[in-house]
Amino acid sequence: MSGSTARFQAIQAVTKYQALSEPLNFAATTMAEVFGSNVFSTKVMKDRLPKSVFKSVMKTIESGEPLDPAVADTVAAAMKDWAIEKGATHYAHVFYPLTGLTAEKHDSFLAPDGLGGAVNEFSGSALTQGEPDASSFPSGGIRATFEARGYTAWDVTSPAYILENLNGTTLVIPTAFFSWTGEALDKKTPLLRSMKALNTQAQRVLKLFGHKNIPLVTASAGPEQEYFLIDRNFFFARPDLINAGRTLFGAMPPKGQEFCDQYFGAIPDRVLACMLETERELFKLGVPVKTRHNEVAPSQYEIAPIYENANVAADHQQLLMLTLKKVAAKYGLECLLHEKPFAGVNGSGKHLNWSLGNAVQGNLLDPGKTPHENMQFLVFCAAVIRAVHKHSALLRAVVAHAGNDHRLGANEAPPAIISIFLGEQLADVFEQIKKSGSASSSKQAGLMNVGVDTLPPLPKDAGDRNRTSPFAFTGNKFEFRAVGSSQSLSGPLVALNTIMTESLDYIATELEKSTGGDPAKLASSVQTLLKSIINEHGSVVFNGDGYSEEWHAEAKKRGLPNNKQTIDALPAITDPAVVSMMEKYKVLTPREVASREEIYFEQYVLTLNVEARITHEIAKTIIYPAAVRYQSELAAASANCKAAGVDFDAALLIKLSGLIKTLNEKTAALEHLNEEGGHGGHGVSNPKKAAERCALKVKPAMDAVRAVVDELETIVADDHWPLPTYQEMLFIK
Ligand code: ADP
Ligand code: MG
Repeated sequence: MSGSTARFQAIQAVTKYQALSEPLNFAATTMAEVFGSNVFSTKVMKDRLPKSVFKSVMKTIESGEPLDPAVADTVAAAMKDWAIEKGATHYAHVFYPLTGLTAEKHDSFLAPDGLGGAVNEFSGSALTQGEPDASSFPSGGIRATFEARGYTAWDVTSPAYILENLNGTTLVIPTAFFSWTGEALDKKTPLLRSMKALNTQAQRVLKLFGHKNIPLVTASAGPEQEYFLIDRNFFFARPDLINAGRTLFGAMPPKGQEFCDQYFGAIPDRVLACMLETERELFKLGVPVKTRHNEVAPSQYEIAPIYENANVAADHQQLLMLTLKKVAAKYGLECLLHEKPFAGVNGSGKHLNWSLGNAVQGNLLDPGKTPHENMQFLVFCAAVIRAVHKHSALLRAVVAHAGNDHRLGANEAPPAIISIFLGEQLADVFEQIKKSGSASSSKQAGLMNVGVDTLPPLPKDAGDRNRTSPFAFTGNKFEFRAVGSSQSLSGPLVALNTIMTESLDYIATELEKSTGGDPAKLASSVQTLLKSIINEHGSVVFNGDGYSEEWHAEAKKRGLPNNKQTIDALPAITDPAVVSMMEKYKVLTPREVASREEIYFEQYVLTLNVEARITHEIAKTIIYPAAVRYQSELAAASANCKAAGVDFDAALLIKLSGLIKTLNEKTAALEHLNEEGGHGGHGVSNPKKAAERCALKVKPAMDAVRAVVDELETIVADDHWPLPTYQEMLFIK
């Protein structure tokens, strides 16, 4: 049997595709009816909980006050009844381990009644706390086996929901996951802590601006998720996609994305059907998905919800990724969330739109219309500039992982240098602030004297967009574009919230000092402070082309870090300044920080090890046999020609034989490295060193194998080629 059988069968199957799902009918059941129908929402709680209990829970959600343990039993009972009405047989604590994935442990509601029967039971303590064991998740040394207990605790601020399955439903409760010692083993715990810290410092600054009764200030997040959808038949014929989530081989197709005919183009029918069902499932779960469109690369798409409280948005984002994958399968599609599933065409990011605010003072990064508000806005905006400049290496570190290495710095994604795009008008405002010294009596100084009262109101939309910036002001929020498509939002959010907290703390402290509590002195104090901030930190602002060579040179001059790969970027997590900041604002203890650095290095090593082993295996057992079959075909043709007394052009045979030889050499070199590296499960002994070895030795060895294989693909007879090609995967749908 030819090695290409699987490939041709895949093509056959794709062309015969028929929908598996029943058509949905949105006229019969409108989206509005569907929205939130599987959520234990505020409304459901209001309807089902005694007034005092409802009030108590809302206090926790809205003001961040600790939950009154006395109400847990009542909430649990109401939740159980609601869930059972919706067909639930089990409940699950869902948590977010440091792998970045979503984890859940299911328990049945059923308990024996002592009379040979059973009753449904769900106590307050089962709601508020669980012990999933889950000792196999990486803990970075925090959970030595002698203290291996891991607990989950109900996060009241993120709503519980019902997860549907063909054969039943499950009540899912979002939780934080931590060790017996109280140390965070997950991504949610530090996120919640960072939200709390941000509120405290934002309140201080708002007070200086004369606000009273300030409600909880929260960070908001709106992620734009990019992803690929390809036919599952191709997916199953590619061991690299199955195991590594990306193609480890594949020559560029004759046609790529150069025509831009995909970007915002008409969405293919099957894909649109899949999107509609995905969105409906997400609506049920209360995820406010809003936009969808084709992205730049063939078979690449984007889905973006409306922004929410950052903690809820992070949970919803995990649900969104799971739902994308789950529903895609129903349409015979595989959803690829990897940052770079296909070399040579655009990769996938997850633009993280971020801001902060509350219901009364509104969005604190909204420039607003009145000068007074503008002054407040400029202070919050300057806090961001200062934060990003001081901690650009940390922001780079929280988006550093094996997948994103293929994307950042490539010429379709933001560079690895973290800079801020402000847009022309805002950049000009800060430029003026910088110039207007106290010695100056110029027009500019006048302009800036009381906030910016003689400047025209700032534009709501920064009309001028800059797609090359990793961190862009986009009208009323910042957009962190370096986040990878497969990533949890939490790491980037923790970093943003905490560096902002530190800046706001600094600003509040300075202003409290310089005004001495006298509101009349606020304007001049703000002016002085803004000037010093922009002088010290303005070098992080860059409004030009982030892809250009000149910027790399200029950034270097400005002293901005350019950490190209994960191994260069990750150590910033344990930089003493970061460790003490995380400790000061009680977001992460030094041990928690250290454990994270270790785990992320380990994740990198595990990813590279898997990729290297699959590269070797495919090269040796799939590509080599195909190449040799073709070689022997050509050799036979050559012998036959000779016997028949006709000329045979041996050029191709010679070239092929040469490539086969190189393939064997490169494969052997990689195999040697793989053996040397060992199998490496958890507990890679020195993850940082192992990561360096992977980046500096293993990766180049893999690339070398790929280079030969991709060349072979262009000369081996098509009917021998065993792997679905880029052209097939990206264009046959
Ligand atoms: P674009 O592709 O032009 O960047 P999109 O409309 O696709 O814009 O996405 C913008 C995202 O920013 C949406 O998720 C939107 O809800 C979000 N967003 C808007 N305002 C805020 C805010 N104050 N905080 C966080 N995110 C926001
Ligand atoms: Mg965007």
